[in-house]
Amino acid sequence: MHAPYPGGVAVVKLGEADSQVASVTFNDKRVLTLRTSEGFYALVGIALDATPGPHKLHGVVENGGIKLDFTTAFEVKAKAYPAQHLKINPRFLQPSKTDQERIEREVPIIVKAREHWSDAAPATLTLDLPSVGRLSARFGLRRVLNGQERAPHAGLDVAVPTGAPVRAAAAGRVVHIGDFFYAGQSVFVDHGQGFITVYIHLSRIDVREGEIVERGALLGAVGATGLVTGPHLHWGVLLNGTYVDPELFLRR
Ligand SMILES: [Zn+2]
Repeated sequence: MHAPYPGGVAVVKLGEADSQVASVTFNDKRVLTLRTSEGFYALVGIALDATPGPHKLHGVVENGGIKLDFTTAFEVKAKAYPAQHLKINPRFLQPSKTDQERIEREVPIIVKAREHWSDAAPATLTLDLPSVGRLSARFGLRRVLNGQERAPHAGLDVAVPTGAPVRAAAAGRVVHIGDFFYAGQSVFVDHGQGFITVYIHLSRIDVREGEIVERGALLGAVGATGLVTGPHLHWGVLLNGTYVDPELFLRR
């Protein structure tokens, strides 16, 4: 799992198995922690635009009602991702005033869903591919749209036809459903402690907000809503509010 580069996950040991660490943050966002027989670890999602070099984790140790702050450094290594050139509908590159207003209204809603936090630890960090098909665009690709470099690809695309089932990558709770300008019909599933999976461009959604889902539960169907060049599933995985490479979690 230790993949300490932009778009990856740093596994940082914070202490022994009996550690009294109460909470950990990275860039002011809560971080998932994991206690095993070998020790107590933070699993830190590293943003695609993170700078290689040293970064700091902040934590709080609680012992007998006394709280102590601490800081731990970890190193982010460089990683180069390939570029992908695409031709898209110019509407998505030069949104109209109406579209721009919609995009701005949607940003805080999406940020809130991405940064959802629940205290219970995930039952597992192993995820299943939500829809079976060819992986058509890997995570991290630098996107060149109609000749302009744009935000990198923050998920994994699976080429599947409209109507194909989309299933929960692991057990969790549906914390948000929405229909967004770029993402189209979207479902956010919380697996615990900021470990969230996102399913976008759906043609149909079969779950409700608040619903508890089992691994493999039907969430909806593949579609072509939002910014797409054709029907596919775009699947995102979040840790501490940051998109990380879904392939790091796939069952091997
Ligand atoms: Zn995608």
